[in-house]
Amino acid sequence: MFEFLSDLYTGEAAGIAGNDRVILLKERSVAISSNIDGEAVFPRWEEVANYLPADTFFTMVGKRENERFFAAEVDILPEYCEPLTIRQFLFEYPEDWQMALCRAKNILNWRRQHRFCGGCKSLLEPSKKDSGLLCPACGNIYYPQISPAVIVAVTRNEGRELLLAHNRTFSGNVYSLIAGFVEAGESVEGAIHRELWEECSIRVKNLNYISSQMWPFPNSLMLAFHAEYDSGSAEADGEELSDLGWFTSADHPELPAPGSIARKVIDRFFN
Ligand SMILES: [Zn+2]
Repeated sequence: MFEFLSDLYTGEAAGIAGNDRVILLKERSVAISSNIDGEAVFPRWEEVANYLPADTFFTMVGKRENERFFAAEVDILPEYCEPLTIRQFLFEYPEDWQMALCRAKNILNWRRQHRFCGGCKSLLEPSKKDSGLLCPACGNIYYPQISPAVIVAVTRNEGRELLLAHNRTFSGNVYSLIAGFVEAGESVEGAIHRELWEECSIRVKNLNYISSQMWPFPNSLMLAFHAEYDSGSAEADGEELSDLGWFTSADHPELPAPGSIARKVIDRFFN
């Protein structure tokens, strides 16, 4: 099990030793090693140390059994490694490795965008006792950000039909579940009712939580729910959604890629 450590040991080389795993990110790609046990995973420090600039800035993001995980953003991925898109990695690799990668991507992105205090413009420093960034001048402390978002499977006819919609931002002719960000001051349940009313003109009942998944583009925490259709016309808003409909496991449009939380929830209802 991947273990989150809130004390983010940080710095150049940062006390990394031979056996530690390093998550090297370059924009939307991650470096993968296939070595030692033949299992393609994040490389060990000893495999890549010679390929990295001495001033590479590492942050420890957690550990798994006896392995510590460090992460860094780099300009060039080591030749020794295979680059893989982060998205593909999240679709294909086991949950432990996904959690490590999501945490690395989230923390590094947040760190890059929070170098100065928003209150007094001083340079922030990593806190010594937790994962925060501390302002040495005014004492403000900043923590990694996550943005909660809801995704909801609405069914009718005793669960035989599932509401799927085509969002204008989707590639090709993919249809998926209704999703949206939780607004400031809003409850998660409130966000679900609002999104379904705004985008699909429907009301739902019997809301039930299913599961969650981090989606680090850049920092969404996707919270999946099931709801039963109650009333309303079920029409696409014509702005975000261009079309929607009620579909069955035997007759449905193209679905999102396997591995995404949307697809996992859809499969759960269609299987
Ligand atoms: Zn400050």
